[in-house]
Amino acid sequence: MSKPSKAQSHHAAGSRTHGAGVLRPQRHDPYRPVGKLPEGSTCPACQAQVHKGRWVRSPANGGMHTAANATFPGSSRASGSAHLCPACTRIALRDPAGTLHLKGRYVSEHEAELRALLAHTAEREGALHPLERLMAVRRQADGSLEVTTTGIHLVRAVGHALQRAHQGQLEIDYLEEESRVRSTWTRDD
Ligand SMILES: [Zn+2]
Repeated sequence: MSKPSKAQSHHAAGSRTHGAGVLRPQRHDPYRPVGKLPEGSTCPACQAQVHKGRWVRSPANGGMHTAANATFPGSSRASGSAHLCPACTRIALRDPAGTLHLKGRYVSEHEAELRALLAHTAEREGALHPLERLMAVRRQADGSLEVTTTGIHLVRAVGHALQRAHQGQLEIDYLEEESRVRSTWTRDD
């Protein structure tokens, strides 16, 4: 596998600034105010809505998978205009903000458990942060799992959940002014 070309040069092999458990402050805020989008704007893909300048889950359906005609409490209209939310935009463009590789012999021997933990963590985090979603969990030819997400926070949350439940080694690299994250969790025994 070749190295991602988008990594900043100072992240080149041999001089990377990552370390197990090292976390730097998060400057990128995927929940920054959405500016011009009017209150009640609705994402046609996931039904998330703009409320007080931020994307929130549609409370009637959990905001995820069902068609909605929900009215957000306190908003005067069910929807303003339709705008694809940032998470659905990343999904549509296949442009993940976060990538996490689960590597090591332990991964293939505990794949079902690990997948369950990924799903559970994503569900829990998604309730708090509607733009943080799993995009895909794919088994690679070497038995490792590649996880992609729409937000960087979910990678961190999943990495820490893995460590709590399954120990292992966690490395997190922030890229491109911390708008992206690439992480590896490894356990061999
Ligand atoms: Zn959406």
